[in-house]
Amino acid sequence: LHAQLIQSQKMESLGLLAGGVAHDMNNVLGAILGLASAEVETHGEGTSTRRSFDTIIKACERGAHMVRGLLRFSRTAPADERELDLNALLREEVLLLERTTFAKVHLALDLDPALGPMRGDASALTNLFMNLCVNAVDAMGEGGTLTLRTRNLDGQVEAQVEDTGTGMTKEVLEKALDPFFTTKEVGKGTGLGLSMAFSTVKAHHGRMDIRSAPGEGTCVTVRFPAAAGSGGAPPEAEAPPPGEAV
Ligand code: ADP
Repeated sequence: LHAQLIQSQKMESLGLLAGGVAHDMNNVLGAILGLASAEVETHGEGTSTRRSFDTIIKACERGAHMVRGLLRFSRTAPADERELDLNALLREEVLLLERTTFAKVHLALDLDPALGPMRGDASALTNLFMNLCVNAVDAMGEGGTLTLRTRNLDGQVEAQVEDTGTGMTKEVLEKALDPFFTTKEVGKGTGLGLSMAFSTVKAHHGRMDIRSAPGEGTCVTVRFPAAAGSGGAPPEAEAPPPGEAV
């Protein structure tokens, strides 16, 4: 499981890097293409300047094609977003984890049946919770408890991954989200798990909060907007009470 996780973290970071480069390159190409296209018309057919501009424009178009390919590969391409049930996703994840690492820890599921749907990319979210769960298991010796909890919080979809492991010092907690920061031995960690988790949460317009103290375990809370138009009474559906300041 560690090997798989490390491989997917590396691919994801490569995707992020490629996406960042592609995005900037797209702006550069756009500027060149824009200026060249405006200028080309002012030079008569067959002149050598006109031929140069035609060549510049063709090269930019080839570059733009390559950039589109990179963006498709990277995670900055539009995610495969659809309405999903986070409870179902976590149940499936637990089945996978049980078969691999959970012989030694207790697993507690506390899923809110009134959670309601959210919009998201199921494979990115599965990776996110896999990273959090593996961190939790790594932090616990035999007999620890990993709790996966969900609840509908004022219409938002909230999930918690809580462990009874070593917890983090203030110094570790401050750096935990930095890419490549790890306290694990080589081959066990890349230091990318939490930074990837955080970027997945941001890509889903969510928030992430980590509470941790040495000897007290760790609780990671993530919160996502509910799918628009889903269950419950969305706040905007109700008129403000008369007299209330807006
Ligand atoms: P990695 O797991 O590859 O080290 P992460 O970015 O996932 O990378 O985590 C960075 C560091 O944060 C870990 O090496 C560990 O020191 C600390 N950490 C993360 N999650 C937990 C946890 N649940 N309990 C204790 N420490 C944790």
